[in-house]
Amino acid sequence: MKNITVIGSGTMGNGIAHVFAQNNYSVNLVDVNETALKKALATIEKNLDRQVSKGTISQEEKTNTLNNITTYTSIKDGAANADLVVEAATENMAIKLDIFRQLDEVAPADCILASNTSSISITKIASVTKRADKVIGMHFMNPVPMMKLVEVINGYKTSKEVTETILTLSKNIGKIPAESNDYPGFIANRILLPMINEAISSLHEGVGGVEEIDTVMKLGMAHPMGPLQLADFIGLDVCLAILNVLHDGFGNPKYAPCPLLVNMVTAGNLGVKTGEGFYVYTPGSKELIVSPQFAKPQNELINY
Ligand code: NAD
Repeated sequence: MKNITVIGSGTMGNGIAHVFAQNNYSVNLVDVNETALKKALATIEKNLDRQVSKGTISQEEKTNTLNNITTYTSIKDGAANADLVVEAATENMAIKLDIFRQLDEVAPADCILASNTSSISITKIASVTKRADKVIGMHFMNPVPMMKLVEVINGYKTSKEVTETILTLSKNIGKIPAESNDYPGFIANRILLPMINEAISSLHEGVGGVEEIDTVMKLGMAHPMGPLQLADFIGLDVCLAILNVLHDGFGNPKYAPCPLLVNMVTAGNLGVKTGEGFYVYTPGSKELIVSPQFAKPQNELINY
């Protein structure tokens, strides 16, 4: 494999492009939005600068990495010579199905088509192509240059050869792959989201406050970040969307999103990206301040 096409240059796409380019792959980075492409290149350069200042890469490696990336606004041009496409566009079923229909037409016949989706079925994505055996999930974690894990998801028809190729490739770019089958939430989100949902229910039912819940999970379970802070970081809308996928996919009430989460999303408090979720966020400040909504102990707000 030499030529990698990354579709979508947002949070995940720029990180995926960065990692492949740093490992000497030729990367075509595609986005419908020209501004997003410019922002992605600036982010990659800033992150490479940080690696140079830490001494983990040389100035020459930084230059080579940037030279390995070419940007495109058309999937047809960007995927024409791809050995592998990693799709990291917006988490929306209609958008992803449309991209994979196009990719199936324009990418070389032997090209593997991977999706970085957090929750959409790989089997469903594969079903709109004529190469379901070559469609697979490659679920990177955020921030991609730092996080070691790649969850490799086998769709119902993904071939063993394609899985092996992607497992090997993941190791070649310095990641550690873990294989999962294609059921709602895969492994990572099937386990993570119920934990986050339970943390939100514990807050909602007044078992503990925001700081107490996060402190218990950080100090008691050695999690680097508490579940409520993590939910703010992921985005509460994204958490709700994944819980709905689990709830619809399994039809089991244990995955029903906590009503407090639903209310927060409806009210537009989505976490870091809107400046307020369980905590409030001020640009440039790393201080964690509990949202005024939760300043009172919850058992004074909600009495069961
Ligand atoms: P994002 O909103 O930051 O970026 C998405 C990009 O896709 C945007 O730049 C948008 O312009 C582009 N896009 C939309 N439609 C397109 C199209 N038709 N063709 C090309 N580009 C298009 O989103 P993100 O957070 O980077 O998430 C991308 C994918 O990665 C999603 O599937 C998400 O579930 C998954 N994911 C996200 C995280 C995370 O923490 N953000 C973690 C793991 C996986």
